[in-house]
Amino acid sequence: MSEVSLNFDDDKLHEECGVFGVYGSEDAAALTALGLHALQHRGQEACGIVSYDGGTFFAHKAQGLVGANFSEGSVMDRLKGYAALGHNRYATTGEGGMRNVQPLYADMDFGGFAVAHNGNLTNAHALRKELVKGGSIFQSTSDTETIIHLIAVSRKTNLAERFVDAIERVKGAYAFIACAQDQMIGIRDPHGIRPLVLGSLGDAHILASETCALDIIGAEFVREIAPGEMIIINKDGIESIAPFEQVPAQPCIFEYVYFARPDSVMGGRSVYEVRKNIGGELAKEEPVPGADLVVPVPDSGTPAAIGYAEESGIPFELGIIRNHYVGRTFIEPTDKIRHLGVRLKHNANRKFIEGKSVVLVDDSIVRGTTSKKIVEMIRAAGAREVHMRISSPPIRYSCFYGIDTPTTAELLAHEKSVEEICKYIGADSLAYVTIDGLYRALGEEKRNNEQPQFEDACFTGDYPVELVDYNNNQTGAKVTDLRERERRKS
Ligand code: SF4
Repeated sequence: MSEVSLNFDDDKLHEECGVFGVYGSEDAAALTALGLHALQHRGQEACGIVSYDGGTFFAHKAQGLVGANFSEGSVMDRLKGYAALGHNRYATTGEGGMRNVQPLYADMDFGGFAVAHNGNLTNAHALRKELVKGGSIFQSTSDTETIIHLIAVSRKTNLAERFVDAIERVKGAYAFIACAQDQMIGIRDPHGIRPLVLGSLGDAHILASETCALDIIGAEFVREIAPGEMIIINKDGIESIAPFEQVPAQPCIFEYVYFARPDSVMGGRSVYEVRKNIGGELAKEEPVPGADLVVPVPDSGTPAAIGYAEESGIPFELGIIRNHYVGRTFIEPTDKIRHLGVRLKHNANRKFIEGKSVVLVDDSIVRGTTSKKIVEMIRAAGAREVHMRISSPPIRYSCFYGIDTPTTAELLAHEKSVEEICKYIGADSLAYVTIDGLYRALGEEKRNNEQPQFEDACFTGDYPVELVDYNNNQTGAKVTDLRERERRKS
Protein backbone atom coordinates (compact mmCIF):
# COMPACT_ATOMS: atom_id res chain seq x y z
CA MET A 1 0.00 0.00 0.00
CA SER A 2 1.76 3.20 -1.09
CA GLU A 3 1.45 6.36 0.97
CA VAL A 4 -0.99 8.67 -0.71
CA SER A 5 -1.21 12.37 0.05
CA LEU A 6 -4.69 13.49 0.65
CA ASN A 7 -3.39 16.97 1.15
CA PHE A 8 -6.29 18.80 -0.28
CA ASP A 9 -5.03 21.26 -2.91
CA ASP A 10 -6.53 24.36 -1.39
CA ASP A 11 -5.92 26.40 -4.54
CA LYS A 12 -4.36 29.16 -2.40
CA LEU A 13 -1.22 31.24 -2.84
CA HIS A 14 1.38 30.02 -0.36
CA GLU A 15 3.40 32.32 1.78
CA GLU A 16 6.86 30.96 1.36
CA CYS A 17 8.67 31.30 4.64
CA GLY A 18 8.75 32.50 8.23
CA VAL A 19 11.88 33.68 10.07
CA PHE A 20 12.62 34.05 13.76
CA GLY A 21 15.75 35.02 15.76
CA VAL A 22 16.73 35.43 19.43
CA TYR A 23 19.85 37.09 20.82
CA GLY A 24 20.66 37.03 24.51
CA SER A 25 18.72 34.17 26.10
CA GLU A 26 19.97 30.83 27.42
CA ASP A 27 16.69 29.39 26.06
CA ALA A 28 17.35 30.81 22.59
CA ALA A 29 16.72 27.54 20.72
CA ALA A 30 13.55 26.64 22.66
CA LEU A 31 12.17 30.16 22.14
CA THR A 32 12.99 29.86 18.45
CA ALA A 33 11.12 26.54 18.19
CA LEU A 34 8.05 28.18 19.75
CA GLY A 35 8.37 31.19 17.46
CA LEU A 36 8.55 28.95 14.39
CA HIS A 37 5.54 27.02 15.65
CA ALA A 38 3.57 30.28 15.73
CA LEU A 39 4.77 30.99 12.19
CA GLN A 40 3.93 27.50 10.86
CA HIS A 41 1.30 29.03 8.50
CA ARG A 42 4.19 30.65 6.62
CA GLY A 43 5.73 27.33 5.57
CA GLN A 44 5.04 23.67 6.28
CA GLU A 45 7.52 21.86 4.04
CA ALA A 46 10.66 22.02 6.20
CA CYS A 47 12.13 23.85 9.17
CA GLY A 48 15.48 24.49 10.80
CA ILE A 49 17.21 26.11 13.77
CA VAL A 50 20.86 27.18 14.11
CA SER A 51 22.10 28.23 17.56
CA TYR A 52 25.34 29.87 18.70
CA ASP A 53 27.19 29.87 22.03
CA GLY A 54 29.78 32.52 21.28
CA GLY A 55 32.18 30.10 19.64
CA THR A 56 30.34 27.19 18.11
CA PHE A 57 27.28 26.89 15.90
CA PHE A 58 24.79 24.04 16.35
CA ALA A 59 22.13 23.10 13.80
CA HIS A 60 19.10 20.89 13.35
CA LYS A 61 17.04 20.92 10.14
CA ALA A 62 14.33 18.57 8.93
CA GLN A 63 11.48 18.11 6.49
CA GLY A 64 8.02 18.60 7.93
CA LEU A 65 6.40 20.59 10.72
CA VAL A 66 8.10 22.28 13.70
CA GLY A 67 6.15 20.31 16.30
CA ALA A 68 7.22 17.01 14.76
CA ASN A 69 10.90 17.95 14.60
CA PHE A 70 11.67 20.16 17.60
CA SER A 71 9.88 18.47 20.48
CA GLU A 72 12.50 15.87 21.28
CA GLY A 73 14.57 16.81 24.34
CA SER A 74 17.63 15.30 22.68
CA VAL A 75 17.28 17.63 19.69
CA MET A 76 16.81 20.76 21.82
CA ASP A 77 19.63 19.80 24.21
CA ARG A 78 22.06 19.82 21.33
CA LEU A 79 21.04 23.35 20.26
CA LYS A 80 23.14 25.23 22.81
CA GLY A 81 23.82 28.92 23.12
CA TYR A 82 22.33 32.35 23.81
CA ALA A 83 21.55 33.14 20.19
CA ALA A 84 19.47 31.21 17.67
CA LEU A 85 17.68 31.75 14.38
CA GLY A 86 15.04 29.63 12.69
CA HIS A 87 13.18 29.22 9.43
CA ASN A 88 9.97 27.62 8.16
CA ARG A 89 10.07 26.80 4.50
CA TYR A 90 7.62 26.52 1.65
CA ALA A 91 9.61 25.85 -1.51
CA THR A 92 9.62 28.80 -3.93
CA THR A 93 12.96 29.17 -5.67
CA GLY A 94 15.20 26.13 -5.47
CA GLU A 95 13.69 22.69 -5.32
CA GLY A 96 12.77 20.86 -2.12
CA GLY A 97 15.28 18.55 -0.49
CA MET A 98 17.49 19.14 2.55
CA ARG A 99 20.17 21.23 0.84
CA ASN A 100 17.75 24.14 0.56
CA VAL A 101 16.42 23.90 4.10
CA GLN A 102 17.34 26.96 6.09
CA PRO A 103 18.98 28.53 8.02
CA LEU A 104 21.90 28.15 5.60
CA TYR A 105 25.33 27.95 7.25
CA ALA A 106 28.87 28.52 5.97
CA ASP A 107 32.34 28.75 7.43
CA MET A 108 33.72 32.11 6.28
CA ASP A 109 37.08 33.81 6.72
CA PHE A 110 35.65 35.54 9.81
CA GLY A 111 34.14 32.33 11.25
CA GLY A 112 30.71 30.77 11.06
CA PHE A 113 27.78 32.55 9.35
CA ALA A 114 24.13 31.47 9.49
CA VAL A 115 21.32 33.14 7.55
CA ALA A 116 17.51 32.74 7.23
CA HIS A 117 15.54 34.49 4.50
CA ASN A 118 11.90 35.29 3.81
CA GLY A 119 11.24 36.55 0.30
CA ASN A 120 12.68 36.14 -3.18
CA LEU A 121 15.74 37.73 -4.83
CA THR A 122 14.77 38.70 -8.39
CA ASN A 123 18.37 38.81 -9.70
CA ALA A 124 19.75 35.79 -7.82
CA HIS A 125 20.15 33.81 -11.02
CA ALA A 126 22.16 36.53 -12.74
CA LEU A 127 24.36 37.02 -9.66
CA ARG A 128 24.88 33.28 -9.30
CA LYS A 129 26.17 32.99 -12.88
CA GLU A 130 28.64 35.80 -12.22
CA LEU A 131 29.77 34.35 -8.89
CA VAL A 132 30.24 30.85 -10.30
CA LYS A 133 32.31 32.34 -13.12
CA GLY A 134 34.39 33.97 -10.37
CA GLY A 135 34.95 30.61 -8.69
CA SER A 136 32.13 30.45 -6.14
CA ILE A 137 30.85 26.93 -5.46
CA PHE A 138 27.17 26.75 -4.55
CA GLN A 139 25.85 24.03 -2.21
CA SER A 140 22.13 24.64 -2.82
CA THR A 141 19.78 25.96 -5.50
CA SER A 142 18.33 28.50 -3.09
CA ASP A 143 18.44 32.22 -3.99
CA THR A 144 19.37 32.88 -0.35
CA GLU A 145 22.83 31.32 -0.79
CA THR A 146 23.74 34.18 -3.10
CA ILE A 147 24.07 36.43 -0.05
CA ILE A 148 26.65 34.12 1.53
CA HIS A 149 28.87 34.25 -1.58
CA LEU A 150 28.47 38.00 -2.00
CA ILE A 151 29.62 38.50 1.61
CA ALA A 152 32.50 36.06 1.04
CA VAL A 153 33.82 38.04 -1.95
CA SER A 154 33.30 41.46 -0.34
CA ARG A 155 36.52 43.27 0.47
CA LYS A 156 34.97 45.48 3.14
CA THR A 157 36.42 45.27 6.65
CA ASN A 158 33.70 44.32 9.13
CA LEU A 159 30.68 42.01 8.91
CA ALA A 160 28.05 44.77 8.79
CA GLU A 161 29.86 46.56 5.95
CA ARG A 162 30.28 43.29 4.06
CA PHE A 163 26.59 42.52 4.54
CA VAL A 164 25.64 45.97 3.18
CA ASP A 165 28.09 45.49 0.31
CA ALA A 166 26.36 42.21 -0.53
CA ILE A 167 22.78 43.41 -0.07
CA GLU A 168 23.36 46.43 -2.30
CA ARG A 169 23.82 44.02 -5.20
CA VAL A 170 20.58 42.08 -4.76
CA LYS A 171 17.11 43.01 -5.94
CA GLY A 172 13.81 41.67 -4.75
CA ALA A 173 11.86 41.31 -1.55
CA TYR A 174 13.45 40.08 1.64
CA ALA A 175 13.62 39.88 5.38
CA PHE A 176 16.95 38.41 6.48
CA ILE A 177 18.12 37.31 9.90
CA ALA A 178 21.80 36.39 10.18
CA CYS A 179 24.13 35.41 12.99
CA ALA A 180 27.93 35.62 13.02
CA GLN A 181 30.82 37.01 15.04
CA ASP A 182 28.69 37.25 18.17
CA GLN A 183 26.10 39.47 16.58
CA MET A 184 22.65 39.07 15.05
CA ILE A 185 21.67 41.11 12.01
CA GLY A 186 18.15 41.79 10.77
CA ILE A 187 17.42 43.57 7.50
CA ARG A 188 14.32 44.37 5.44
CA ASP A 189 14.18 45.22 1.73
CA PRO A 190 14.02 48.94 0.77
CA HIS A 191 10.27 48.82 -0.01
CA GLY A 192 9.54 46.69 3.08
CA ILE A 193 7.63 44.16 0.94
CA ARG A 194 8.28 41.32 3.41
CA PRO A 195 7.55 41.89 7.09
CA LEU A 196 9.99 41.86 10.03
CA VAL A 197 9.36 42.94 13.63
CA LEU A 198 11.51 43.52 16.73
CA GLY A 199 10.55 42.33 20.18
CA SER A 200 12.13 42.02 23.61
CA LEU A 201 11.93 39.39 26.35
CA GLY A 202 13.84 40.32 29.46
CA ASP A 203 17.37 41.10 28.21
CA ALA A 204 16.83 39.16 25.00
CA HIS A 205 16.13 40.75 21.61
CA ILE A 206 13.75 38.96 19.22
CA LEU A 207 13.32 39.26 15.46
CA ALA A 208 10.29 37.65 13.76
CA SER A 209 8.18 37.71 10.59
CA GLU A 210 5.02 38.45 12.56
CA THR A 211 3.93 39.67 16.01
CA CYS A 212 2.06 36.40 16.68
CA ALA A 213 5.52 34.82 17.15
CA LEU A 214 6.28 37.36 19.90
CA ASP A 215 2.96 36.66 21.62
CA ILE A 216 3.59 32.91 21.90
CA ILE A 217 6.76 33.47 24.00
CA GLY A 218 5.37 36.41 25.97
CA ALA A 219 7.77 38.87 24.33
CA GLU A 220 6.97 42.56 24.16
CA PHE A 221 6.45 44.10 20.70
CA VAL A 222 9.04 46.90 20.34
CA ARG A 223 8.57 48.03 16.74
CA GLU A 224 8.68 47.01 13.09
CA ILE A 225 12.02 46.95 11.30
CA ALA A 226 11.56 49.84 8.89
CA PRO A 227 11.75 49.28 5.11
CA GLY A 228 15.43 49.43 4.14
CA GLU A 229 16.60 49.26 7.77
CA MET A 230 19.40 47.03 9.04
CA ILE A 231 19.79 46.37 12.75
CA ILE A 232 22.84 44.89 14.42
CA ILE A 233 22.30 43.27 17.81
CA ASN A 234 25.26 42.42 20.07
CA LYS A 235 26.23 42.51 23.72
CA ASP A 236 26.27 46.33 23.63
CA GLY A 237 22.67 46.53 22.45
CA ILE A 238 21.09 47.44 19.12
CA GLU A 239 22.48 49.63 16.34
CA SER A 240 20.27 50.68 13.45
CA ILE A 241 21.52 51.78 10.03
CA ALA A 242 19.78 52.71 6.78
CA PRO A 243 22.19 51.63 4.02
CA PHE A 244 19.90 52.29 1.06
CA GLU A 245 18.64 55.23 -0.97
CA GLN A 246 15.18 55.99 0.43
CA VAL A 247 12.33 54.57 -1.65
CA PRO A 248 8.57 54.55 -0.91
CA ALA A 249 7.43 51.83 1.50
CA GLN A 250 5.25 49.23 -0.23
CA PRO A 251 4.46 46.31 2.07
CA CYS A 252 2.82 43.24 0.49
CA ILE A 253 -0.95 43.85 0.60
CA PHE A 254 -1.66 40.09 0.38
CA GLU A 255 -0.23 39.65 3.89
CA TYR A 256 -3.37 41.46 5.07
CA VAL A 257 -5.70 39.54 2.70
CA TYR A 258 -4.50 36.03 3.51
CA PHE A 259 -0.89 35.28 4.54
CA ALA A 260 -0.44 36.80 7.97
CA ARG A 261 -2.13 35.23 11.00
CA PRO A 262 -5.30 37.14 11.94
CA ASP A 263 -3.94 37.78 15.44
CA SER A 264 -0.84 39.54 14.07
CA VAL A 265 -0.46 43.31 13.92
CA MET A 266 1.15 44.67 10.73
CA GLY A 267 1.88 48.30 9.98
CA GLY A 268 0.02 49.14 13.18
CA ARG A 269 -3.14 47.43 11.88
CA SER A 270 -4.84 44.35 13.30
CA VAL A 271 -4.84 41.83 10.43
CA TYR A 272 -8.19 40.44 11.66
CA GLU A 273 -9.75 43.91 11.69
CA VAL A 274 -8.48 44.70 8.18
CA ARG A 275 -10.05 41.48 6.90
CA LYS A 276 -13.39 42.37 8.50
CA ASN A 277 -13.13 45.83 6.93
CA ILE A 278 -12.54 44.26 3.52
CA GLY A 279 -15.74 42.25 4.02
CA GLY A 280 -17.56 45.48 4.87
CA GLU A 281 -16.25 47.20 1.73
CA LEU A 282 -17.27 44.16 -0.34
CA ALA A 283 -20.83 44.33 1.04
CA LYS A 284 -21.06 48.01 0.15
CA GLU A 285 -19.66 47.47 -3.33
CA GLU A 286 -21.34 44.13 -4.18
CA PRO A 287 -24.54 43.57 -2.15
CA VAL A 288 -26.81 40.53 -2.63
CA PRO A 289 -30.35 41.78 -2.07
CA GLY A 290 -32.63 39.12 -0.61
CA ALA A 291 -29.87 36.74 0.46
CA ASP A 292 -30.57 34.64 3.55
CA LEU A 293 -27.10 33.78 4.78
CA VAL A 294 -23.45 34.85 4.73
CA VAL A 295 -21.23 31.75 4.86
CA PRO A 296 -17.39 31.86 5.03
CA VAL A 297 -15.10 29.39 3.26
CA PRO A 298 -13.17 28.51 6.42
CA ASP A 299 -10.83 29.51 7.94
CA SER A 300 -9.33 32.27 5.83
CA GLY A 301 -12.68 33.55 4.58
CA THR A 302 -14.18 33.94 8.05
CA PRO A 303 -13.15 37.49 9.11
CA ALA A 304 -14.28 38.98 5.75
CA ALA A 305 -17.58 37.06 5.96
CA ILE A 306 -18.19 38.50 9.44
CA GLY A 307 -17.49 41.98 8.05
CA TYR A 308 -19.81 41.35 5.10
CA ALA A 309 -22.61 40.14 7.41
CA GLU A 310 -22.21 43.09 9.78
CA GLU A 311 -22.28 45.62 6.93
CA SER A 312 -25.16 44.00 4.99
CA GLY A 313 -27.24 42.93 8.00
CA ILE A 314 -27.55 39.43 6.49
CA PRO A 315 -27.17 36.68 9.16
CA PHE A 316 -23.76 34.97 9.43
CA GLU A 317 -23.63 31.16 9.75
CA LEU A 318 -20.89 28.56 9.66
CA GLY A 319 -22.50 26.85 6.69
CA ILE A 320 -19.28 25.00 5.89
CA ILE A 321 -17.46 23.00 8.54
CA ARG A 322 -13.74 22.43 8.12
CA ASN A 323 -11.88 19.25 9.06
CA HIS A 324 -8.63 20.48 10.68
CA TYR A 325 -6.96 17.07 10.35
CA VAL A 326 -6.51 16.82 6.59
CA GLY A 327 -3.15 15.29 5.75
CA ARG A 328 -1.55 12.05 4.67
CA THR A 329 -3.39 8.77 5.09
CA PHE A 330 -3.14 5.23 3.77
CA ILE A 331 -6.14 5.06 1.46
CA GLU A 332 -5.74 3.81 -2.08
CA PRO A 333 -7.60 6.60 -3.98
CA THR A 334 -9.92 5.33 -6.71
CA ASP A 335 -11.24 8.06 -9.02
CA LYS A 336 -14.42 8.08 -6.95
CA ILE A 337 -12.40 8.78 -3.78
CA ARG A 338 -10.14 11.31 -5.52
CA HIS A 339 -13.29 13.16 -6.71
CA LEU A 340 -14.36 13.53 -3.10
CA GLY A 341 -11.21 15.66 -2.56
CA VAL A 342 -12.94 18.83 -1.36
CA ARG A 343 -14.96 16.92 1.26
CA LEU A 344 -11.74 15.87 2.93
CA LYS A 345 -11.41 19.41 4.20
CA HIS A 346 -14.89 20.91 4.03
CA ASN A 347 -18.44 19.73 4.48
CA ALA A 348 -21.71 21.63 4.05
CA ASN A 349 -23.81 22.23 7.16
CA ARG A 350 -26.89 21.04 5.29
CA LYS A 351 -29.55 22.10 7.84
CA PHE A 352 -28.50 25.75 7.47
CA ILE A 353 -28.04 25.70 3.70
CA GLU A 354 -31.13 23.90 2.39
CA GLY A 355 -33.49 26.19 0.41
CA LYS A 356 -31.40 29.29 1.20
CA SER A 357 -29.87 32.03 -0.91
CA VAL A 358 -26.25 31.86 0.26
CA VAL A 359 -23.49 34.46 0.03
CA LEU A 360 -20.19 32.51 0.08
CA VAL A 361 -17.20 34.63 1.15
CA ASP A 362 -13.61 33.54 0.44
CA ASP A 363 -10.33 35.48 0.44
CA SER A 364 -9.15 34.69 -3.12
CA ILE A 365 -9.54 32.58 -6.26
CA VAL A 366 -6.29 31.33 -7.86
CA ARG A 367 -6.96 28.51 -10.37
CA GLY A 368 -10.64 28.29 -9.38
CA THR A 369 -10.57 24.53 -8.76
CA THR A 370 -11.60 24.78 -5.11
CA SER A 371 -14.24 27.49 -5.60
CA LYS A 372 -15.87 25.32 -8.25
CA LYS A 373 -16.05 22.32 -5.90
CA ILE A 374 -17.25 24.43 -2.97
CA VAL A 375 -20.11 25.90 -5.05
CA GLU A 376 -21.02 22.36 -6.20
CA MET A 377 -21.01 21.18 -2.57
CA ILE A 378 -23.28 24.02 -1.39
CA ARG A 379 -25.70 23.42 -4.27
CA ALA A 380 -25.71 19.68 -3.47
CA ALA A 381 -26.62 20.61 0.10
CA GLY A 382 -29.80 22.21 -1.27
CA ALA A 383 -28.96 25.92 -1.58
CA ARG A 384 -31.51 27.89 -3.65
CA GLU A 385 -28.87 30.36 -4.88
CA VAL A 386 -25.07 30.60 -4.45
CA HIS A 387 -23.45 34.05 -4.67
CA MET A 388 -19.65 34.14 -4.37
CA ARG A 389 -17.93 37.24 -2.93
CA ILE A 390 -14.11 37.45 -2.87
CA SER A 391 -12.25 39.67 -0.37
CA SER A 392 -9.41 40.47 -2.77
CA PRO A 393 -9.31 41.72 -6.36
CA PRO A 394 -8.81 39.16 -9.18
CA ILE A 395 -5.30 37.62 -9.10
CA ARG A 396 -4.10 38.29 -12.64
CA TYR A 397 -0.31 38.16 -12.29
CA SER A 398 2.26 35.93 -10.61
CA CYS A 399 4.24 37.01 -7.58
CA PHE A 400 8.05 37.20 -7.81
CA TYR A 401 8.59 38.61 -4.35
CA GLY A 402 8.46 35.41 -2.33
CA ILE A 403 4.98 33.97 -2.71
CA ASP A 404 4.49 30.64 -4.37
CA THR A 405 2.06 31.44 -7.18
CA PRO A 406 1.19 29.41 -10.25
CA THR A 407 2.48 30.73 -13.56
CA THR A 408 0.54 33.69 -14.84
CA ALA A 409 -1.09 31.51 -17.50
CA GLU A 410 -2.50 29.19 -14.79
CA LEU A 411 -4.20 32.06 -12.97
CA LEU A 412 -7.90 31.88 -13.79
CA ALA A 413 -8.30 35.67 -13.81
CA HIS A 414 -5.34 36.29 -16.09
CA GLU A 415 -7.32 35.39 -19.16
CA LYS A 416 -10.95 35.14 -17.96
CA SER A 417 -13.40 37.95 -17.16
CA VAL A 418 -15.37 37.89 -13.91
CA GLU A 419 -18.44 36.72 -15.86
CA GLU A 420 -16.46 33.83 -17.39
CA ILE A 421 -15.07 32.86 -13.96
CA CYS A 422 -18.58 32.98 -12.49
CA LYS A 423 -19.73 30.59 -15.21
CA TYR A 424 -16.71 28.33 -14.60
CA ILE A 425 -17.31 27.98 -10.85
CA GLY A 426 -21.05 27.63 -11.41
CA ALA A 427 -22.21 30.44 -9.10
CA ASP A 428 -25.33 32.58 -9.57
CA SER A 429 -23.12 35.67 -9.20
CA LEU A 430 -19.49 36.43 -8.48
CA ALA A 431 -17.84 39.67 -7.38
CA TYR A 432 -14.45 40.75 -6.04
CA VAL A 433 -13.64 43.71 -3.83
CA THR A 434 -12.11 46.49 -5.93
CA ILE A 435 -8.48 47.54 -5.44
CA ASP A 436 -9.70 50.87 -4.02
CA GLY A 437 -12.09 48.99 -1.70
CA LEU A 438 -9.13 46.93 -0.47
CA TYR A 439 -7.10 50.12 0.11
CA ARG A 440 -10.03 51.73 1.97
CA ALA A 441 -10.18 48.67 4.25
CA LEU A 442 -6.55 49.47 5.11
CA GLY A 443 -7.45 53.03 6.01
CA GLU A 444 -6.39 54.67 2.75
CA GLU A 445 -8.75 56.87 0.76
CA LYS A 446 -7.92 54.84 -2.36
CA ARG A 447 -4.90 53.46 -4.30
CA ASN A 448 -2.44 56.15 -5.36
CA ASN A 449 -1.79 54.94 -8.90
CA GLU A 450 1.23 57.19 -9.23
CA GLN A 451 2.88 55.82 -6.12
CA PRO A 452 0.96 52.88 -4.63
CA GLN A 453 1.00 52.73 -0.86
CA PHE A 454 1.29 48.91 -0.93
CA GLU A 455 2.88 46.25 -3.12
CA ASP A 456 -0.05 44.78 -5.11
CA ALA A 457 1.46 43.45 -8.35
CA CYS A 458 -0.49 40.16 -8.38
CA PHE A 459 -3.65 42.28 -8.77
CA THR A 460 -2.30 45.20 -10.82
CA GLY A 461 0.76 43.90 -12.65
CA ASP A 462 2.64 46.90 -11.26
CA TYR A 463 6.01 45.48 -10.06
CA PRO A 464 8.07 48.08 -8.15
CA VAL A 465 11.30 46.04 -8.07
CA GLU A 466 13.09 44.94 -11.22
CA LEU A 467 12.52 41.29 -12.14
CA VAL A 468 15.98 40.72 -13.62
CA ASP A 469 15.71 36.93 -13.77
CA TYR A 470 12.23 36.88 -15.23
CA ASN A 471 11.02 37.75 -18.69
CA ASN A 472 7.79 39.29 -19.88
CA ASN A 473 6.29 35.92 -20.72
CA GLN A 474 6.55 34.98 -17.08
CA THR A 475 5.31 38.28 -15.72
CA GLY A 476 2.71 38.98 -18.36
CA ALA A 477 2.98 42.53 -17.12
CA LYS A 478 5.11 45.66 -17.11
CA VAL A 479 7.75 46.42 -14.51
CA THR A 480 7.29 49.98 -13.33
CA ASP A 481 10.34 50.77 -11.31
CA LEU A 482 11.11 54.14 -9.90
CA ARG A 483 12.66 55.59 -13.03
CA GLU A 484 9.48 54.87 -15.00
CA ARG A 485 7.35 56.35 -12.22
CA GLU A 486 9.51 59.50 -12.01
CA ARG A 487 9.23 59.86 -15.80
CA ARG A 488 5.39 59.51 -15.56
CA LYS A 489 5.27 62.17 -12.82
CA SER A 490 7.27 64.69 -14.87
S1 SF4 B 1 2.69 40.15 -5.92
FE1 SF4 B 1 2.99 41.61 -4.28
S2 SF4 B 1 1.02 41.76 -3.25
FE2 SF4 B 1 1.01 39.90 -4.44
S3 SF4 B 1 1.69 38.35 -3.03
FE3 SF4 B 1 3.48 39.04 -4.13
S4 SF4 B 1 4.39 40.62 -2.84
FE4 SF4 B 1 2.28 40.30 -2.14
